[in-house]
Amino acid sequence: MTPDSLLPGHAKSDAQHAREMCVAGRWMYERSFIVACEGNLSVRLADGRILTTPTCMNKGMLSPEDLVITDLEGRQVAGDRKVSSELAMHLLFYRMRPDVNAVCHAHPPTATGFAVAGSALNKALLPEVIVGLGQIPLVQYATPGTPELSAALEPFVPHYDALLLANHGAVTCGTDLLTAFFRMETIEHCAKITLAAELAGEPVLLSGREVAKLMAARPRYYVSPPPGGGAELPMTNEGGESAEDRVTLTRDELDALIDEAVRKDRSRR
Ligand SMILES: [Zn+2]
Repeated sequence: MTPDSLLPGHAKSDAQHAREMCVAGRWMYERSFIVACEGNLSVRLADGRILTTPTCMNKGMLSPEDLVITDLEGRQVAGDRKVSSELAMHLLFYRMRPDVNAVCHAHPPTATGFAVAGSALNKALLPEVIVGLGQIPLVQYATPGTPELSAALEPFVPHYDALLLANHGAVTCGTDLLTAFFRMETIEHCAKITLAAELAGEPVLLSGREVAKLMAARPRYYVSPPPGGGAELPMTNEGGESAEDRVTLTRDELDALIDEAVRKDRSRR
């Protein structure tokens, strides 16, 4: 199977989705986004049920018959193997985001290094990442596979397509499996470049003006941001200026301040 067969936009049978999930699992394993039995993938099928990878198996070595189908509440409806405890995280995306049809969870080592260090990938460094994802926030730690992790994720899910999970890994979503997988690749690539930049010197952040231009260019790249809106923009070279730090003056107020400064300066001479 070639990557072309994962192109989005075609109505696919359950069997096609299953074959593609096995390919995406192999890509995740071959790129070292996961090792051993880590990570999981899921897809929303045409009838609304969820196709997903099983627990305790290497996701790079799966066959379609290893996969499991559940309903939106996580009740297993097909497949012989056991469903992953991390499925709850996937179901959260499907319940909150009607636009999402695939979820990808992995532990890519460089990005997970940032997540372990408590660092989001939230700086305005790379145009591709800004256009595609805005930024990649860090979700606070909670035990994997528990309702606490879903609760920590919930405020982020409507607004972002890619998230770091503190001391754990990363999760991405998309309209199809290829898009969700590409977003996982982008996270790891961005983390590697950020790390290299930090080793090479001081990373140079883009300005708010440049970020605004990239955001405005999104339709040109066929990027549709999460329908929830409200995502925070990446940190720019204007520094971590918050709304409280910002002072807005009218033209008259500014003129008055300048006049006063000039008067004081003259009176000192
Ligand atoms: Zn995990």
